[in-house]
Amino acid sequence: GELSRKLDLIIAKDVLPQREVEAEVVWSSPHRPRNADGTFAQLAAAGMVAEMGEGIYATGALFHEVLSGLDRRLHDLAVGEFAASAFHYPNLISTDTLRRAGYMSSFPQFLMTASRFRSDVDTYDSFASGVASVDDIGQHIEEHSEHLGYCLPPAMCYHVYQHLQGRGLAEGPIVVTTRGQTFRFESRYRRSLERLWEFTMREVVFIGERTAVAEQRRRLMSAVGDMVTELGLAGQIEVANDPFFFNGQIAEYVRVQRAMELKYELCLPVEHGRSVAAGSFNIHGEKFGSAFGITLADGGAAHSACVGFGLERFAYALFCQHGVDLDAWPDDVRAMLRTSV
Ligand code: ATP
Ligand code: ZN
Ligand code: MG
Repeated sequence: GELSRKLDLIIAKDVLPQREVEAEVVWSSPHRPRNADGTFAQLAAAGMVAEMGEGIYATGALFHEVLSGLDRRLHDLAVGEFAASAFHYPNLISTDTLRRAGYMSSFPQFLMTASRFRSDVDTYDSFASGVASVDDIGQHIEEHSEHLGYCLPPAMCYHVYQHLQGRGLAEGPIVVTTRGQTFRFESRYRRSLERLWEFTMREVVFIGERTAVAEQRRRLMSAVGDMVTELGLAGQIEVANDPFFFNGQIAEYVRVQRAMELKYELCLPVEHGRSVAAGSFNIHGEKFGSAFGITLADGGAAHSACVGFGLERFAYALFCQHGVDLDAWPDDVRAMLRTSV
C-alpha cells in the first residue's frame, strides 16, 4: 500500500549511517545495569552454553529453564491480556510466502533456503558414490540439489499471514502468538549469545483496523516494560529501524522508518557496555494484509503489527544482569522464571 511505496521512495535516496542517529528513548527501566563483563565466559565455564559452530550454541538445563520461563510469561501475557490464539508452526516456510511478504527482496542477505537432492535414482547414486572421495562436500551437495519451495523461517510471523490469507475480519481483530526456531545468516557473529545464526523467537501478531492494531502494539509495549521492571532488569525501549537491502547495497538506516515510528526495540544491557535488542515492536501498515488478501469488514486490506522476542538474547541479558548463579538472583525474579524453585 501507500506505506511501502513511501518506504521504497525514501530508501532510494535518504539513508543515514547509524552513528549519526540519536536513539529516541520512549521508556526506560528504573534499574541500573551492573558490570557484567565475562558473563559469556562464565556461562561456558559452568557448562551452561557450548559453541557448536559460529552463531550456533548448545544450551544447558538452567539456561533453558530461564528461557522457557521468559517465554511462558510472554505467552501468558499474549493469551491472557490480548486474547491471542496460540499456534505451533513448522520449521519449514513456503518460499512463495516469503516472496509475497517481500522478504526475499528486502533481506536476501539473511535468507536460509532448504534444498534437497533431485528426486531420481541416478542423482542418489552419483551423490552417494562421491561422498567419500570429493574434496568439497558442499559443492557436491549443491550439484545434486534442487529447490523444492521451502525455506527456514527468518521470523515466525510470516507463517501467520499465510495461515490467515484470504480471511475476512468481520468479527474484529485477530491476535496470534507462536514460538519457533528462526534462522538468519548474519554477516558476523561474536563468541556470545548476542547474535545467533539459529535462535528462538516468540511472536505476537495483531491483524485488524489501523487504530486497533496501533493501540495493541502500544499496550503490549507498555506491558513488556512492566515485565522488564519486575524482572529487575535495566533497559529501555527506543525507536529503531531495519537494514534493508536496496539497489545492491544494504541500506542500514532509513529515515522514514524512524520518523514514522514503525519499529521500536527493547534494548537490554549485556557485556562490555553493549546493549542488544531483546524484542521489537513493528507496525506494517497494510503491507501484509494486502499481500495476503486479509480484509476488514469494509473490504479494505487489514493492517498488521508484530512483536518479536529473541529468547536467547532475553535470557542472556538476565544472566548478564543477575549473574550466572541462579541461587543468587532476587527471589521474586527466580520465582517468576523457574519451574522448580
Ligand atoms: P538486530 O538489530 O539486533 O539485528 P533485528 O532488528 O534484526 O535485530 P527483528 O527482525 O526485529 O530483529 O527480530 C525480532 C527479535 O529477534 C529481535 O529483537 C531480537 O531479539 C531477535 N533477533 C534478531 N536477530 C537475531 C539474531 N541474529 N540472534 C538472536 N536474536 C535475534
Ligand atoms: Zn514479525
Ligand atoms: Mg538484524
